[in-house]
Amino acid sequence: MKMDEKMDEPKKRVLSGMRPTGRLHIGHIESVLRNWINLQKDHDCFYFVADWHALTTDPSTKDIEYNSIEMVKDWLAFGVDPKQSTVFLQSQVPEHTELSLIFSMLTNIGRLERVPSFKAQLSYLANGNEAKADELRGTISQGFLGYPVLQAADILIYKTDVVPVGEDQVPHIELTREIARSFNTQYGGVFVLPEVKLSYIPKILGTDGQKMSKSYGNTISPEDSREDIAGKVRKMVTDTNRKSKTDPGDPNACSVYDLHLIYQEDESIEIGRKCRNGEVGCFDCKSMLTGPMTDIYAAFRERRPHILDEDVKRVLREGSERAREVASATLQEVRHMMMLDYL
Ligand code: SF4
Repeated sequence: MKMDEKMDEPKKRVLSGMRPTGRLHIGHIESVLRNWINLQKDHDCFYFVADWHALTTDPSTKDIEYNSIEMVKDWLAFGVDPKQSTVFLQSQVPEHTELSLIFSMLTNIGRLERVPSFKAQLSYLANGNEAKADELRGTISQGFLGYPVLQAADILIYKTDVVPVGEDQVPHIELTREIARSFNTQYGGVFVLPEVKLSYIPKILGTDGQKMSKSYGNTISPEDSREDIAGKVRKMVTDTNRKSKTDPGDPNACSVYDLHLIYQEDESIEIGRKCRNGEVGCFDCKSMLTGPMTDIYAAFRERRPHILDEDVKRVLREGSERAREVASATLQEVRHMMMLDYL
């Protein structure tokens, strides 16, 4: 366990992961990575590529290596520091799967079916048709139904103190705590009950007003040029009730204003005031973002081309070794408490 130099006491352990999605857009960066960078200064952070989790919705593995490497290049270029944080690949730490199997014996199917993400997936597949959702229940893979159990193993195997999540992930952490409690009661106290650290997740919509996603073709990349950023922001949806630049606007109904809150927080109050009073037009308001949105990623753009595939693989190999040491120590305790270490 790493120590906090100032306090001379163990740093709290943090765990967080991302599915391998390939190159990151500004939505990923501002909602997850920025938080990781802030946490790594005074926490013992474990950040991992959740490649097994990717298989729960798409078992194809043809892009998984490329997507993992490219994503970790973005992490490193943005400032995730492998000297401060343990950066690892989930599938290189097989201890997660053994613990997940044990946890699956302590978790009812009914409980998993009540997890909101499972219900949401069913409803999505059934286009919101409740009767059809029931029919489709049998088509969902065991891996998808059980992925919150794997997630519980990911968290608990490191005796994680703090899990930074958005509000939608809170039910998974509740389930994780239930599983930890259930194990500790049945076999003896091994697991720390992790605390949720609710992260402020900034709302970053795509250029078409939908969720920012590569599959919608509406993303902004940290590598976009000043001109590209200007062009993309210009297309963004604003307060649709505003017809002319002197009409009073509503910043809360405008996805561009959300970007002001992120990229120029200090000026955002004044920009909001001017919008409400019809003192600034949307064209000019959008133009104000181009500089801050380009400049903030200058160091990222400078660093990223120098990070090679081999650098990423080395970081993941070394990080996975360290993660395995911690994970296997926990698993030994688990086997001992379960009296499964009798050979
Ligand atoms: S002035 Fe700015 S904040 Fe107001 S609606 Fe237009 S783009 Fe949005």
